[in-house]
Amino acid sequence: MAEPSRATLLVEAFANTIDVEEATDALSDLAGLRSWLSDHGLPSDVDERDFHQARLLRAGLRERLLANNGEEPDERVLAEAERVLDYLPLTVSLSVETPLAAEGPLAIIAAAWATTAATGEWQRLKRCPNHACAWVFWDGTRSRTRRWCSMRVCGNRAKVRAHAERRRTT
Ligand SMILES: [Zn+2]
Repeated sequence: MAEPSRATLLVEAFANTIDVEEATDALSDLAGLRSWLSDHGLPSDVDERDFHQARLLRAGLRERLLANNGEEPDERVLAEAERVLDYLPLTVSLSVETPLAAEGPLAIIAAAWATTAATGEWQRLKRCPNHACAWVFWDGTRSRTRRWCSMRVCGNRAKVRAHAERRRTT
């Protein structure tokens, strides 16, 4: 099984700061964002603007990861996140002092996404298509065909539902 890099784990953790099933959101306010950032070893001196951008970036990322699973993404949400990415202070260079000039935690998260994208790992990062779950997971299968966050939970639920629907229509 392929293992995710640290960069991908950070992207995954950021995407999963919202838990649809548990109805919790670690980024529900600025204080929540600060404490999540410091828990993950990232700079946490953020303001309301960063908070707003973090929410837009997360929403877009989650749409992207849903699309990775063969579902239709919300293009408007993706476009809003793209605008955030366009203006993040992020520069890569060969300078010894600042090989990666990433100002602020969002730029660091964007850099992690760049790593995930550059290594092709992004194709294994997917959002569960069960909208009551919507958990982001790493697909470590050789064939990269895992669709549900967990075959035991969501996969089975989907199967049971399909079975029930078939019975209703016949
Ligand atoms: Zn799921």
